[in-house]
Parts: sequence; C-alpha cells; structure tokens
Amino acid sequence: MELTSPGTTVGVVGGGQLGRMLGEAASPLGIELVVSDPTPDAPAAPAVRDQVLGEFDDEATVRELARRADYLTYEIELADPDVLDAVAEDTGTPVHPHPETLRIIQDKLVQKRRLAEAGVPVPAFRAVDSADELRSALAELGYPAMLKAREGGYDGRGNVPVAEPGDVEAAFDAINGPAMVEEFVDYERELAVMGCLGADERTTFPVTETIHEAEILRETVSPARASEQVRERARAATRDVLDVMQGRGVYGIELFETGDGEILLNEIAPRPHNSGHWTIEGCHTSQFGQHLRAVTGLALGSTGRRAPTASKNILGDVDGRQPARLTGVERPLSTDRLSVHWYGKREVYHLRKMGHLTLVGEQNASAGGLLAGIRDAAEPLTFAETD
Ligand code: ADP
Repeated sequence: MELTSPGTTVGVVGGGQLGRMLGEAASPLGIELVVSDPTPDAPAAPAVRDQVLGEFDDEATVRELARRADYLTYEIELADPDVLDAVAEDTGTPVHPHPETLRIIQDKLVQKRRLAEAGVPVPAFRAVDSADELRSALAELGYPAMLKAREGGYDGRGNVPVAEPGDVEAAFDAINGPAMVEEFVDYERELAVMGCLGADERTTFPVTETIHEAEILRETVSPARASEQVRERARAATRDVLDVMQGRGVYGIELFETGDGEILLNEIAPRPHNSGHWTIEGCHTSQFGQHLRAVTGLALGSTGRRAPTASKNILGDVDGRQPARLTGVERPLSTDRLSVHWYGKREVYHLRKMGHLTLVGEQNASAGGLLAGIRDAAEPLTFAETD
C-alpha cells in the first residue's frame, strides 16, 4: 500500500451529486476522478479531473473511462453490469463493487430473494407479472401492500401502494411490467446503515434514522432514536448483507424497524447513499472517502461519529423546470455548526435533490433538538420566485 504522485485515478460511471462528493473526498487522498455522464457539465464536473460525455450504459464511454483509470466504480444503478464485466475483462481494470452485485441489486425481486436466502429478515413478498397474479398474491399477503417495479425505480418512482382489492387493476397498470409486491410494513421508524467492504476488512457506520415523506428521503439523524438492542439488530442485518455482497465499496442499507423492535431490510444501494451524507461532517471518515479507500484497496478509515448529527435535503419546490436559484440562504449559512452543500445543478424541478444541510450538534444534543434546529435553518429556503 502506498500513496503516489500523480495519484491513483478512479473512473466513476455517473457524475451527479454523488460523483461530486466523491470528487471532494478524493482530493485529500491524492486520488483523481474521471466521471462519465450524458449531461454536459454534470454536477460532478467542477470537483473532478475530467468528464467523459456518454450514457451510463454505453460501452465505448465505459471503455474510455477504463483507459484513463486504475479502478472503475459507479455512483448510479443505471450502469450496465454486462458492459462493466466486458470492459473489466478486456482492459484488466477492476470494477468495484463487482458487476454481479449490481446485477442482483438492480432487480428488486432478485435482491430480496438473495437476501432472504441468506437469512436477512425481509418483508413478505411475491413476484407478480399480471393483475391476476397480484390479486392472488394479495389474497395471501393481505392488504395494504406495496407494489414495486422490479427495475428502474428510485425515490419512490416505480412503487405503488395497493390499499384494497379495488386498487389492483389500476396499481398493476401503473407499473405494467415485471413487478414484486410486498406486505406494507407498519414501521416504527426507518433506519439506514452504511456498510463498507475493504480489501480485507469491513466497517459499518453508526445507525442512522431516516425520515421519508411521500417515499423521498427528507432528513436523517444519528444516533437513531432506537434502543441499543434495535441498533444492534440493524448492525447484525448489515453484516449479513455484506456477506452476500461481492466487491469492495460502501453499501447503503435501508431498513425498517417494526413496532415490536424487529428489523426488516427494505433495500440496498451498492454505492454511497443519501442516508450517509451526514458522515461528511459527522464522522471521522465520510462515506465518500471510505468508498474511495475501499475501491483503491487502501486501509479503511474510522467510522466513529464525531457528535450527534442531522441532515436535511434541499429539494425542488417548484412546478415545471426553471433555472436553479435558491433564496433564503443567509439563515443556513450563518447558523452555527451547520454546513451547506449545493450540488450545482443548473435546473430545478419538483422534488429534485439540489443540495443538503448538515447540522453537527454538541456531544449531548438530542435528535429532536437537532431536527428542530435544521428545520428552522432551512425554513426560508425556496426556489420559488420571491420579490
Ligand atoms: P426507491 O427504490 O424508489 O427508493 P424504496 O423501495 O426504497 O424505493 O421505497 C421508498 C420508500 O417507500 C421507503 O423508504 C419507505 O418509506 C416506503 N416503502 C417502501 N416499501 C415499503 C413497504 N413494504 N412498506 C411500507 N413502506 C414502504
């Protein structure tokens, strides 16, 4: 293990906000990034050495990344595991996490089956390929339930709640493709753990509480307001998930805590995840630095929490598309212990992730106090036209 100058280059499929924050974390390690993205001047561009213009699944683009990089990784599940496999084999440039892991995770049904087989607790689920199959699955699972497209969903797009038998036809029509249905979990709260597989070690970040609204992550707070026993169950589920994953890198593991304190796995992301953004200021090593250490085979960093920390997404609050102009930033910028992250996206639309805030508390800060503080700081923020 050594550090060199010029440093190791990592090629990243995807140049969104995750690529940008990877770029910010790469610099202190002397690592250089080249990202690929179809959008010119993607959010990552200012924070990385270069951007290759091309679709996430375009083979020539991924080959160009491999030509320029010592290692390949991806920050978006729209990367193509077959392309990554072929390029890795031809060029000898290793891909982390392994494309097989991406293949499993891309299909929510395959993912749940694989995890259930490995003994990870998951909500009851069934494969459904027609409205009739959905009706008979729900005769067993009961109502309400959540119907999910097997592939391509994100931020709740691709998920349709099914409240009662009368909703079956419309729910299936909304997906109209290969799907899975799972019991609706009446959870106490949602939790997330960032796990990391290194060259020959593994780490987990502190258990985080995630607050979603309309299926989109809005806020996080760590430590989570769960008992130590529940948090240990979340860590145990994370270890079991990591046993199933192949390849180095960080994994975002989303969990439900049920009313009786059990843990059920919702889903996994084979990359840094929104629920881990708070680690930039809140932990000794961020999820982004950890991912780069893992991918390049460096020793992993300490995942200890510096202090209780909350984060809050800055989401588009306008209809239609318009140039991104965020007003009301004086309050967050001048709030003590608060960091502002702006992703540099040129346009804003409804619920688009445009940035986030992180508030690091005193050692004895409460989750409720941190959330109240970050909500107060964010209160004036808006993209809507103001006089
Ligand atoms: P995506 O892949 O689009 O992020 P998820 O499957 O993670 O979608 O679901 C997003 C959110 O929807 C979850 O964080 C949770 O709030 C809610 N959700 C998903 N599945 C269920 C379920 N089975 N029961 C209750 N809520 C669910």
